[in-house]
Amino acid sequence: MIDIKGLHKQFDRLEVLKGIDLNVNQGEVVVLIGPSGSGKTTFLRCLNALEIPDQGQISLGDVQIDFNKKVGKQNLLKYRRQSGMVFQNYNLFPHKTALENVMEGPVIVKGESKAKVAERAKLLLEKVGLGDKVDFYPHQLSGGQQQRVGIARALAIEPEVMLFDEPTSALDPELVGEVLKVMKDLANEGMTMVVVTHEMRFAKEAADEVVFMDGGVIVERGTPSQIFEQPKEERTKRFLQMIQ
Ligand code: ADP
Repeated sequence: MIDIKGLHKQFDRLEVLKGIDLNVNQGEVVVLIGPSGSGKTTFLRCLNALEIPDQGQISLGDVQIDFNKKVGKQNLLKYRRQSGMVFQNYNLFPHKTALENVMEGPVIVKGESKAKVAERAKLLLEKVGLGDKVDFYPHQLSGGQQQRVGIARALAIEPEVMLFDEPTSALDPELVGEVLKVMKDLANEGMTMVVVTHEMRFAKEAADEVVFMDGGVIVERGTPSQIFEQPKEERTKRFLQMIQ
């Protein structure tokens, strides 16, 4: 489903991604962990074309892009539509209702008819437990509810892959569980997911593979039990000691 080779990204003179290779199979949940500043968010944003890699090749769903060459706009748009992104701060439109927020992507980006999209958007809001909140505005919703709208919105474009960038970091502790539950349900349904999170319990319970990043490279990857119980690399051991 995802095949990444030699991904590099630099901001001015700061080299943030120094050659990332990663494969993700259909239906797999990959959790990215690592210290702050190690490039996790940048990596995820490259998968959604919110950042354009300087070098590397990515195959995502039906689209292959070679970032070593000039990338056409159409191909980039098609690439972006392969994945749905869930942001740390929800990024909802404040003046649109939950339903309108979920409808935005399919109507604007994919040009689908409003009536058709409205039906699907309602079902998605029901799926994330917000069937009774379709007409609420973001400020009328709790952080956990807003993030669940964010998940429904990302699902609305019917992506091949869901990307989560620290989806629970901005939430009060008592609201984290409801968002993680929606994510676990999605994982159980077979959605392919790449998740950046500090929630180690989620990583242990839901990940097929845990990837430890540090300094712009993948240091180590393995099953949750390999990474959490028998890490091989010193850097992984140190990081896990620090957060436990
Ligand atoms: P992580 O998600 O692991 O905390 P990030 O990908 O957010 O790491 O950041 C990696 C490094 O890249 C940091 O040093 C950060 O300051 C820098 N960085 C991220 N985005 C930008 C940007 N748009 N412009 C300049 N530097 C950036």
